[in-house]
Amino acid sequence: LINEFEVTIPIRAGVAIFPLHGDQTGQLLRRTEIALNSAKEKKCTVQFYEEGSDAKHLNRIRLINDLKQAIEQNHLVMFYQPKVDLKARRVTQVEALIRWFHKELGFVSPEEFITLAEQAGLMPALTRWVLLTVIKELSTWMESGIDLAMAVNLSAYDLAHDDLPDYIEKLLTEYKVPATHLILEVTESAVIEDPEQAMNVLHRFKKQGIKLAIDDYGTGYSSLGQLKSMPVDELKIDKSFVLNLDQDKDDQVIVRSTIEMGHNIGLTIVAEGVETKAAWLLLEEYGCDKLQGYFISKPASGADFLAWYKDYDVNDAV
Ligand code: C2E
Ligand code: MG
Ligand code: MG
Repeated sequence: LINEFEVTIPIRAGVAIFPLHGDQTGQLLRRTEIALNSAKEKKCTVQFYEEGSDAKHLNRIRLINDLKQAIEQNHLVMFYQPKVDLKARRVTQVEALIRWFHKELGFVSPEEFITLAEQAGLMPALTRWVLLTVIKELSTWMESGIDLAMAVNLSAYDLAHDDLPDYIEKLLTEYKVPATHLILEVTESAVIEDPEQAMNVLHRFKKQGIKLAIDDYGTGYSSLGQLKSMPVDELKIDKSFVLNLDQDKDDQVIVRSTIEMGHNIGLTIVAEGVETKAAWLLLEEYGCDKLQGYFISKPASGADFLAWYKDYDVNDAV
């Protein structure tokens, strides 16, 4: 109690026991630190060091170092997944998805290493590498007469700084790609931390003529107020509502009303995670604008995607 104010102080402790968890000062301190971090993550008051966490911790550090190298040495690859426009009856966009094939570990999922990159401060370098790679790719596609827009995922960290709009502008000019051919996908949670700052960056993109999409819609702390104030063009319904669409009546209600709501505020609606013909037909019936999912194509390397794209005909697909 300070004056008449009650102040709540959260306390967390990480515990390592001598000699059970180590007999060297440095080792014990590192293990208390690891236990403390895990207490914070689990939001519990006291956390004892758990056998094996050290190895996990060291693995993470190794993975972070490897990722740093992978970015520098170009060991990452971009894959591309098409989005079908139901009215135009053709593929009009692709989403660029990053892939990392680790020398020893094999495929590491982007969900895993993007979180690592965010925590280790590697996001600015990673996002710049992604943007450079896909804008170059897009410019070669355009040169050979392929007219597609490219969607790129951004993380919350990319909106926390002011320098990305200028960087993108520079790339678009250098590779002669019109801003209208770029779509940036952000999640609602990317805007939660510092809404004013994030909104500022989004408005700058918008002014440059870049399209914006909300990714994974329906899974975050969605607020309709926030949605209305975001300068976005497209709303992507999260795949968790789409994967079992033909079986799940609740999902059908959610998806149908989200499409209607989105249309009413002027947004284009994309459904991700379309795995079956049944889901495609339902989404078409609901008036969904664009579809993305394994039923159309899995994400593929640039060369594989182009080979697929040349042969693909929407009317043969359903
Ligand atoms: P996302 O942006 O929501 O991307 C869609 C994810 O759904 C991709 O997973 C894609 O492979 C997967 N997917 C597409 N269609 C289907 C389907 O029909 N069924 C199922 N089960 N899954 C489908 P992926 O490639 O593993 O990427 C996961 C997440 O990692 C992405 O989710 C995105 O948030 C993030 N990510 C990927 N590439 C990048 C990147 O270059 N930069 C950033 N910041 N994040 C990225
Ligand atoms: Mg996305
Ligand atoms: Mg998504």
